[in-house]
Amino acid sequence: MTKENKSKKGIKKGLIIVNTGNGKGKTSAALGTSLRAAGNGFKVLVLQFMKGSWKYGELEAFKKFSNVEIVQLGSGFTWHKENLDEDRGLAEKGWQKAKDAILNGDYQLIVLDEINYVLSYGLLDMGNVIEVLEKKPKMLHVILTGRDAMPEIIELADLVTEMKEIKHPFKDGIYAQKGIEF
Ligand code: ATP
Ligand code: MG
Repeated sequence: MTKENKSKKGIKKGLIIVNTGNGKGKTSAALGTSLRAAGNGFKVLVLQFMKGSWKYGELEAFKKFSNVEIVQLGSGFTWHKENLDEDRGLAEKGWQKAKDAILNGDYQLIVLDEINYVLSYGLLDMGNVIEVLEKKPKMLHVILTGRDAMPEIIELADLVTEMKEIKHPFKDGIYAQKGIEF
């Protein structure tokens, strides 16, 4: 540990955390951290970009916690050229909600699930996202998930983990399993 690092030992701060990569576990890890934070009495907000149509188990599970809110912001992205405006509109609306939540100081952990996709598809203004994250309350933790995290986000983050695929049942033609994927 360097001298400079030693002096940081006692620091308490909200972290910017990125879960990215091609392997499974980005969203699961963010939800696991939400559970941990909830158990510590933190007020937690999980905003799921893109997601909207599937019935994810986490939606039901978090209803059991009075200090965790989970909101689906999409209708499942379309990714059709003709609907790009719709996707952009949904992303922008979702970001407004995220921005308000980040800046209003009510939460101690905010998860921006799948926001990395939204950013890598250019559906949100990166400059604005960075600006808001830089202005976040000092003790607020923010987790950003999704493949293809942008370099600007990685640069800003305190903690970045890349999930690496070693094996995935999908490659064997085995589709999503209840309780594991949703
Ligand atoms: P999870 O929500 O299970 O933690 P994730 O957030 O890491 O997964 P996403 O990129 O959000 O993964 O993908 C969503 C869906 O794709 C999930 O159902 C997940 O199981 C599946 N998936 C994740 N990684 C792979 C992979 N390497 N090959 C095929 N499917 C995958
Ligand atoms: Mg995910």
